Amino acid sequence: MSRFRFHEAMTACEVCDFLNCIPPLQNGERFRCRHCGHVLVSVYEQAPVRILLTGLSCLLMLALAMSFPFLGFSSSGIERNITLFNLVSVLLEQRHLLLGAIISLALFVFPLVYLFSILFLVWSFQHRYPLNIAQRYCIRWVQVIQPWLMVDVFLVGILVALVKMMSFADISLELSFWAFCGYILLLLKTVALVDRRWLWFNVAGPALAPSVATGTAQQEGLIGCHFCGATMAGDRRHCDRCGHAVYSRRPNSVGTTTALLLASVVMYVPANVFPIMHTTFLGNTEPSTIMGGVLLLWSLGSYPVALVILFASVVIPIIKILSLGWLCWQCHFPSRRLTAQKIKLYQLTEFVGRWSMIDVFVVAILTSLVQMGNVIAIYPGAAVLSFSAVVIFTMLAAMTFDPRLLWDKDEALSVAAFTGERRGG
Ligand SMILES: [Zn+2]
Ligand SMILES: [Zn+2]
Repeated sequence: MSRFRFHEAMTACEVCDFLNCIPPLQNGERFRCRHCGHVLVSVYEQAPVRILLTGLSCLLMLALAMSFPFLGFSSSGIERNITLFNLVSVLLEQRHLLLGAIISLALFVFPLVYLFSILFLVWSFQHRYPLNIAQRYCIRWVQVIQPWLMVDVFLVGILVALVKMMSFADISLELSFWAFCGYILLLLKTVALVDRRWLWFNVAGPALAPSVATGTAQQEGLIGCHFCGATMAGDRRHCDRCGHAVYSRRPNSVGTTTALLLASVVMYVPANVFPIMHTTFLGNTEPSTIMGGVLLLWSLGSYPVALVILFASVVIPIIKILSLGWLCWQCHFPSRRLTAQKIKLYQLTEFVGRWSMIDVFVVAILTSLVQMGNVIAIYPGAAVLSFSAVVIFTMLAAMTFDPRLLWDKDEALSVAAFTGERRGG
């Protein structure tokens, strides 16, 4: 194996489209875009071995987490133990199919597809078998699934659900709970060790790059593949290296983002007006909305948890919709504000978006755990699905937004300022 773990003659930054020549990188080195500072590639020390170890330990932890009781619940003399598998099976038995599907995708399906794909990839790098088509599919799954891994959000959801239940029940954390925490930490560690440019370099080698140029790919008549990082001539429709569709700027980016934002605004109304869950206590059923749940937690003195839910379910979606809407506006009517700050705002909205799912997970956990007939039982309300739609639509809106459009306007501004100065002089 070569001394250098990564080298790429030229790559276009996916955030600002600036062309960067990446020198051969050693293990443990990373390379930042010379224009915007975005990390283009990280080559971790002993990455293949560490990914194998953390990935396999993660699968072992999941197997342990599935084998023992997860949480114990006792109220009014009735005791109940549930396993991790029950969390999903109770939802499916009660015909909350979409909620059950969301939980199984977030907890098991996406993480397992991700883990098996990345383990297969790293194993195939070590053995250098000619498995190119399978490797290419696996990298695609790894890249597509990664933003939808939400196990850490689910863990916070469990903690919030525990605080909510403390007022009416005794809760015990069983063996599986601790194995589940290990599963989450190891999954996060595995994800942190994976770099997409490094993966593509291992599967398909360095991309054939056009002759060295400066400025952005668009200015030089080139296209940077946003999927694998290769750079190619501007008339290509598909990437020379990974085969993914390529475009200089995402087609209809602002229009698609705006449409998704409008859809999330429409879904935000029923998400807050209708109850997110119904609680049956001694035969009486009471609905509660998202804000109702926050106020109840506040009145019970659980201030930190009330604030977590308030931020995750109310503040973050509103801020995200407003920020992305403003960024879309900026693509047409840019202000003098620094583009680097707009990019930071965009990256922040992308990062915090998935944390809004906490309340959906809380309702799913409470529904699975608190099932004691007429004594006490919790059911999801109509708002769960509309709120999930808000989160998914805003996440998709952030993904379809092309941040390079902001830099294009930045270039236009600087050119306009330059010619204006020249004219003035
Ligand atoms: Zn950049
Ligand atoms: Zn590509």
